[in-house]
Amino acid sequence: MSGAGVRVRVRVDPELCIGTGECARIAPAAFRIDESRGVSVPRPEAARVDRGVLEEAAHACPTRAIALRSGT
Ligand code: SF4
Repeated sequence: MSGAGVRVRVRVDPELCIGTGECARIAPAAFRIDESRGVSVPRPEAARVDRGVLEEAAHACPTRAIALRSGT
């Protein structure tokens, strides 16, 4: 099988997230800010977003709240 079938599990730790919105700016298809809680929440479509974009968002997060895992 090709890499196209590999899914990435995207998680945001709400204890670490401080709601800066960097992730949603870099990868708006993968993250949205929950205004009521002031934290980022991965979108259901996040697993289909380009891995490089997800990694860029994760690296840009000031609190390292974003975790990426290769899922099955
Ligand atoms: S970049 Fe990090 S701290 Fe900022 S909203 Fe996204 S997950 Fe939260």
